Amino acid sequence: MKRYKVALLSGDGIGPEISGISIEILKKLSQKYGFDIEIKEEYFGGIAYERLNDPAPKATLDQCKASDAVLLACVGDVKYDALPRELRPESGLLKLRSALNLFANIRPVKIRKPLLDSSSLKKEIIENVDLVVVRELIGGIYFGQPKGHIIDTKLKKAFNTMVYDSNEIERITEVAIKIANQRSKKICSVDKSNVLEVSQLWRDTVLEVTSKDKDLNLSNMYVDNAAMQLVKDPSQFDVILTSNLFGDILSDLAAMITGSIGMLPSASLSNIGPGVFEPVHGSAPDIAGKNIANPIAMVLSTSMMLKIGLNEIEAADDIEIAVDNVLSKGYRTADLDNGNCQVLSCSEMGKKIIQEI
Ligand code: NAD
Repeated sequence: MKRYKVALLSGDGIGPEISGISIEILKKLSQKYGFDIEIKEEYFGGIAYERLNDPAPKATLDQCKASDAVLLACVGDVKYDALPRELRPESGLLKLRSALNLFANIRPVKIRKPLLDSSSLKKEIIENVDLVVVRELIGGIYFGQPKGHIIDTKLKKAFNTMVYDSNEIERITEVAIKIANQRSKKICSVDKSNVLEVSQLWRDTVLEVTSKDKDLNLSNMYVDNAAMQLVKDPSQFDVILTSNLFGDILSDLAAMITGSIGMLPSASLSNIGPGVFEPVHGSAPDIAGKNIANPIAMVLSTSMMLKIGLNEIEAADDIEIAVDNVLSKGYRTADLDNGNCQVLSCSEMGKKIIQEI
């Protein structure tokens, strides 16, 4: 029997409400598909700060490193905003990404047919959208040195450095190639090479790496045009490959095509250890404890973990089908209420999905 170790970080806000459903789903799937899954819950985020004075305690990071995959719900709350930066829950996230070398962020954006009317874009524009954003996660302008403030002039100045080396670009391109090869072999690399030197290196390196695979169809697009095209004709994209800053912005733009942030999963991957699988949304403090959160992003993150992290493809597909079945029957959580559906609580939605598995 295959055995897996999963570190579960329920975090803050709606985190514990939505992660309880993932535990039940994993228990059911392990029986159905005959694998053993050991889930270890660890403190992370605001709750870890409160219990252990550290949003990403060493014991948690060690447990994550020793696991086959990490399932994370969400962290954060306004009550932590006044803390020194290193003690805030969001700093825990950066520490986790860095500790696990999570250089690749994968965000699938797929329209689920029953939710076609939930998007702010027209139905005919979004109905065929099924794309993946592959974003470099631990390099570029968010991490580049030098950065800081210049205070010895009359005029206040601040600066950051957008820097990539070819190794960083190569390894994220390899990830995009792997994903494209499981899909339609189409990659659109997004940069700003008409203005930025770092983007020219990005474009040249992506071309060099992808040209080794003759079946791949590579196109390049400037980031400003990519933003426009994602709104105008998002179904033209399959795999979007881009840097940290551009990916941050474009992946949120692409996410909203689907209608609710409560629907979207993501994976952050390394080439040496476990990946972290987590919803795109935050801890939603405004609805925490009310049992009204949409658990589907967490449920679909669990599916991504099974597929990418544990290679349990059938079990992962089972979750996807269960979610589609529940939505097709007209069940929704409050965030997707269009006045023409049956609104369920978070736990009720979880039960419906589990019943379909
Ligand atoms: P958020 O994603 O938590 O919430 C934005 C809006 O979406 C809110 O109205 C919320 O109620 C709603 N929402 C989010 N998830 C939902 C769900 N599953 N079901 C229904 N509605 C949902 O973003 P925010 O309000 O900007 O941030 C709140 C906290 O979360 C902050 O402390 C922030 O730093 C943190 N945060 C954490 C992560 C993470 O853990 N990866 C990501 C983003 C923000």
